[in-house]
Amino acid sequence: MIDINDAKNAVLKAGIKLLESGLTARTWGNVSCRVDGESFVITPSGRSYLSLTAADLVLVKIDDLSFQGEIKPSSEKGVHAEVYKLHPEVNFVIHTHQDNASVIAATRLKEIQVDSKYPTLGETVLCADYALPGTEALQKKVRQALEKSTGKAVIMRHHGALCFGANAEEAFTVASELEEACRVFVINRYLKLSGERKYDPYAMSAFVLGQDRETLLSLVTPEKRAYGASFRRGNGFIWFDGEREVEIPDEQILAGWPEEVGLYRAIYQKNQWIKAIIFQATPEILSLSTAGCSLKPLLDDFAQIIGLRVRTVERDDPDRVARALGRSSAVLIKNTGALCCGANEDDARAAGAILHKAAKAWIGASLFGRVKPINPVESMLMRYFYLKKYAKQALVMSADK
Ligand SMILES: [Zn+2]
Repeated sequence: MIDINDAKNAVLKAGIKLLESGLTARTWGNVSCRVDGESFVITPSGRSYLSLTAADLVLVKIDDLSFQGEIKPSSEKGVHAEVYKLHPEVNFVIHTHQDNASVIAATRLKEIQVDSKYPTLGETVLCADYALPGTEALQKKVRQALEKSTGKAVIMRHHGALCFGANAEEAFTVASELEEACRVFVINRYLKLSGERKYDPYAMSAFVLGQDRETLLSLVTPEKRAYGASFRRGNGFIWFDGEREVEIPDEQILAGWPEEVGLYRAIYQKNQWIKAIIFQATPEILSLSTAGCSLKPLLDDFAQIIGLRVRTVERDDPDRVARALGRSSAVLIKNTGALCCGANEDDARAAGAILHKAAKAWIGASLFGRVKPINPVESMLMRYFYLKKYAKQALVMSADK
């Protein structure tokens, strides 16, 4: 048993560490600390770790998930409770959306073997079957995996990971060992299938999609990087090419301007909700854009934040690029990369990070057989509830001002 204030401080510190370590972004993931045999404190639902105070953390009962106060605890409190029930020695649990574990979460694998270099993980890490986030069904699936597991981490299919330990420090060690073990597992699979001797993200993406690495690399030109970023301003917008900011008013004639300026204008004119656009061209995104892929959600946060599909569109067709963003926060631009959009810069960057992870997951999962997206009805439900919750939060935020 520890003092509740010490438990709360440990959770607040771990929340910041979760963000800084890149194990999760923004309000995703959650952290908890056991107080005694009956209860734990956990982060609240949908709040930024950066602004959390001890008063925002919620005391939850392990046996029936009841809680005190007005603030709602994280919707994944049930999976945390399962860990505390099964493991009396565990005092700290973190749920992450970390990149490499998410790649494994996107495969159909039931478990992965791990090297003895990662002692906290046991010899195998199990992947819990899928259920919608925040549901009792998910809690049950995670419990089943936890019961069979010998290590301190479980992967949640199509979602993320659960890592735990005697204290915060051990839980973070588990998360970083898991990240490394998953990364190595995918690379070894690639090396075995391809016969290559070393890993290179361009070569792996090209191998998966039947492309040529050199051709792919030749597409990474400084001119493409100039897609940069853009922000709506007044009736026009700002275009930032990586070095300079240029203001483009609505009446500006675009003849002679780079093509991306035309794309940005079309996007803003057609989609009033978009206020910021970020360009992304990681090896995996570039490769998928070159193959002309249409991505569907392999991970929950893709369905929630990006939408039900990301299409590839030709770069000389601004109208289609703008239309592709009607119901999705991202679009792949053929042979170029992706444009990721949001109602503000933070949202656009979040969409970029989620798309990058989704592209890695798509390439990685392809090494283990046919890629199978989440059931479309479930994806649609997640998207709907996310947008509803988001609209409510935006309303609260504007009322605060
Ligand atoms: Zn999650």
